Amino acid sequence: MTTVPVPCPPNLAPENRKAWTEACRLRQHIWGRAVFLRGIVEFSNHCRQNCLYCGLRRDNTSLVRYRMTPEAVFAGATRIKQLGFGTIVLQAGEDPEFPAETVAALVRRIKAELGLAVTLSLGEWDTRAYTLWREAGADRYLLKLETADAALYARLRPGKKLEERLAALGSLAALDYETGSGLITGLPGETEAALRRGLDLLASLQPDMVSLSPFTPHPATPLGNQPTDSPEANLRALALARIAMPTAHIPVTSALGLHGDTVRLAALEVADVLMPSLTPSEVRGAYAIYPGKNTDSQDPEQRAAAFAPLLLAAGFTLPPGPGGAWRKT
Ligand code: SAH
Ligand code: SF4
Repeated sequence: MTTVPVPCPPNLAPENRKAWTEACRLRQHIWGRAVFLRGIVEFSNHCRQNCLYCGLRRDNTSLVRYRMTPEAVFAGATRIKQLGFGTIVLQAGEDPEFPAETVAALVRRIKAELGLAVTLSLGEWDTRAYTLWREAGADRYLLKLETADAALYARLRPGKKLEERLAALGSLAALDYETGSGLITGLPGETEAALRRGLDLLASLQPDMVSLSPFTPHPATPLGNQPTDSPEANLRALALARIAMPTAHIPVTSALGLHGDTVRLAALEVADVLMPSLTPSEVRGAYAIYPGKNTDSQDPEQRAAAFAPLLLAAGFTLPPGPGGAWRKT
């Protein structure tokens, strides 16, 4: 195996450098220089939930809502296939008007006609829906804990409980989905102890993928005046996640990507997945979970295609295929 120099992110505090170096070593050991690209289509910004941190929350009346047709989502999947990606991620708010049967039919068609691996990130539904989608061929499901602090969880997700989230993840694992979970780092009220507990809890669930997005306040939410989690704090959390879960896929989230390509490339020294948005230009700006998301002016294909030269120049490789879980890779 070739050894590569391991650059530390420029602003990482000296006390975090040991963890960073160890996380880089583990990333190199497990995934080499591979970066796995997944194309994401965010097909609806309607949501029945009211998460205090999220711009799609139902009480955000200033948001223009959209819902793509199944045909338009399939067209997005076709573009993802044409770009050479092996996986599509279908993400949305919890939208009851996009019924479980419609999602299942879409998954079935994507599997049959395009052969892509399908990841769903659609929030919390009943076991019937998870079963339907799994039977239709969905391979993976991403459902983040957001925080492992039960009191904070209940406060930030009105009407919801952490134990229900854990039960949902249990159902998904029982249905043999490859599971992804994760946290929002730097949530208002999150302590260092809660972050550590969150990582321990995630590790105990043995997820195939772990996503940590830095909290990025949206002005039209109750947390709009709270501070953004710094990129350095998020990079440190990514390093701790790699150490806690060496074989997990770890994406560089679009929220971290807002801080620029230097930060994105630094993050890929411990993370190994990028998920460019292929949501069509006409609606993508309205998928405003936080400000800045999906606001670049390039069309989705241009942006997705621009990743490859940047990554290759930084010495990464882009393996073809679905890039499944460690145990299946
Ligand atoms: N409705 C689904 C999927 C869409 S939300 C769900 O909730 O699972 C996708 C992710 O966006 C959430 O899991 C959350 O971690 C992240 N997110 C929401 N608001 C955020 C914010 N203000 N800053 C950073 N990440 C955020
Ligand atoms: Fe809806 Fe997901 Fe946003 Fe919560 S985080 S409001 S479930 S889109």
